[in-house]
Amino acid sequence: MPLVSEGAFIASQHSPEGCRLVLLGAPLDATVSFRPGSRFAPAHIRQISESLEEYSPTLAADLGDIPFYDAGNINFAFGNVPAALATIHRVVKSQVLDRGCRPLLLGGEHLVTLPAVAAVKARYPELVVVQFDAHADLRSHYLGEEQSHATVMRRVCELVGAGNLYQFGIRSGTREEFIFGQENTHFFPYEVLMPLKQVLPQLVGRPVYVTVDIDVVDPAYAPGTGTPEPGGCSARELLLAIDMLANLNIVGFDLVEVCPPADHSDITAALAAKVVRQALLGMGRMAS
Ligand code: MN
Ligand code: MN
Repeated sequence: MPLVSEGAFIASQHSPEGCRLVLLGAPLDATVSFRPGSRFAPAHIRQISESLEEYSPTLAADLGDIPFYDAGNINFAFGNVPAALATIHRVVKSQVLDRGCRPLLLGGEHLVTLPAVAAVKARYPELVVVQFDAHADLRSHYLGEEQSHATVMRRVCELVGAGNLYQFGIRSGTREEFIFGQENTHFFPYEVLMPLKQVLPQLVGRPVYVTVDIDVVDPAYAPGTGTPEPGGCSARELLLAIDMLANLNIVGFDLVEVCPPADHSDITAALAAKVVRQALLGMGRMAS
């Protein structure tokens, strides 16, 4: 068994050599509207990943067979959001995509999805984005800002085209966001698994970016998040949804909005680590 470097996600290789998947922490924690703390998530998720098995019985696959590299956290100065977003974009492009690899980001807040999608879209122009989230994140502005974790999917929408955005589990937003979603995106409020099953055939063969905002899960299963929203899916339902995506061509992935200071017994970080393990296994099939 290869040794795992201290602090890296379980089963990470020691070097990017031969890896087609690269895990990166993006601890941006700047525009959250309620509880801050997501900057601590990448380290917590990596730490708790030690408690997982490398083998997934649901996918009959082992992380030890998937060469991926945990490249650590992207470094940027806090307090300058445009500069941080530019850095994330540059690193995802130059360190991952330009090397023929696919990125998996650990947020941080949801705004990190914007530069990541922009970089991935430049490489895969036919990109589809699949979002799991309690919140629509479709505001055109939030408190005067265009770039915020409350506007991120509106900006993504402008990047990839509304018809290429699929939103699952949405149960919170303004009237305007709900109308915009219902009229423009593939908008599936409240439910996750059922609508995903229905639209899956539309996504087969297309390059897909998956963004998981952990607050899509009910706060009973994922209390450690910045803006908890009751009435969400179960942990098991999200894991089943991620497994279902294993048949798709996932070219980018992120998991965002875990907030360790608000967590209890690492419940949320443990779920996040398992979601990331399943995503690595699913992406590993296609990326090899
Ligand atoms: Mn959310
Ligand atoms: Mn979100």
